[in-house]
Amino acid sequence: MSRTAFLTALPKVELHVHLEGSIAPDVALKLARRNGVRLPGADGGPQGLRAAYVFRSFRDFLRLYIGVSRCLVTVQDIRDVVVDLARRHAAAGVRYAEVTFTPLTHRARGITADVLWAGLATGRAEALRQYGVVHRWVFDVVRSMPHQAEATVDFALGMDARDEGSVAGLGVGGPEADHYPMEAIARAFERGRAAGFASLPHAGEGAGAASIWTAVRSLGASRLGHGVRCLEDPTLVDTLRERAITLEVCPSSNVVLGLFPTIAAHPLPDLLAAGLRVTLGSDDPPMFGTDLLTEYERCIDAFGWSDDVVRSIVRTGIEDSFAPQPLKAEMLRDLDAPG
Ligand SMILES: [Zn+2]
Repeated sequence: MSRTAFLTALPKVELHVHLEGSIAPDVALKLARRNGVRLPGADGGPQGLRAAYVFRSFRDFLRLYIGVSRCLVTVQDIRDVVVDLARRHAAAGVRYAEVTFTPLTHRARGITADVLWAGLATGRAEALRQYGVVHRWVFDVVRSMPHQAEATVDFALGMDARDEGSVAGLGVGGPEADHYPMEAIARAFERGRAAGFASLPHAGEGAGAASIWTAVRSLGASRLGHGVRCLEDPTLVDTLRERAITLEVCPSSNVVLGLFPTIAAHPLPDLLAAGLRVTLGSDDPPMFGTDLLTEYERCIDAFGWSDDVVRSIVRTGIEDSFAPQPLKAEMLRDLDAPG
């Protein structure tokens, strides 16, 4: 069996991928034309846009990310990008994904909550019907916009009322720095957690250990987006291990955004050696020139992972996901099945 066939056959989950950042250039172009939106580089047609997906700085990345986000206007647009992500997930053997979406970014440019809810709900139903992939949502707050936190929780409650069980949790994303006040987000998260949503913030990517401590203490994080900078503080590493707080590690994203020069220089082996729970994610796959299978392949190449190590990473993802219990049990059974 080839390596790709082995990796594809494993029953996988993906717990760190952004819906807006998962939109492939061809789909973005189609939506931009449909809605009369200008995309960076798109004057040069598909090739120009593909070139814009190879950016040189965080600013270029944000420009592209915001531009692509603006292509989502109608129920059909949102449905299409959800179904296209499910198509790629199914082809890679991903059966369950927790997909992050930033509702207030779209609400702020005039898209109604009804359009967003309907697009996500119909996309999710179609993803399951056509590809057998189960999606649950993580609705995130932009860290620099804490005043949007309560409305994000309201949005999540509205989504759950419309499509019960579709919301896994709440996230915090956007630029990370220690100086953003977290009180308003912490209050909103408390309300969200009381309603049954998990706390799944990004932390320990653009800022260090202090930001992770805040995510753990003030937000009650049960997993961390990235979290790779926890190694700066041994007490923090002990806390993450004792509380079994999983790190959603996205190696290619970290390299493209300049945290580490290469995958080989990524501290992933140190995180595993420290006994931390780690799952792999692709973050914004086409924008970082990757997908989940490629993340596994790059780690195998860089760190010489055996099949058993790969299986253990896959297992952690399944165990620490919020997949429905029967699906979890089925995936673990298939992971342990001989051959
Ligand atoms: Zn992310």
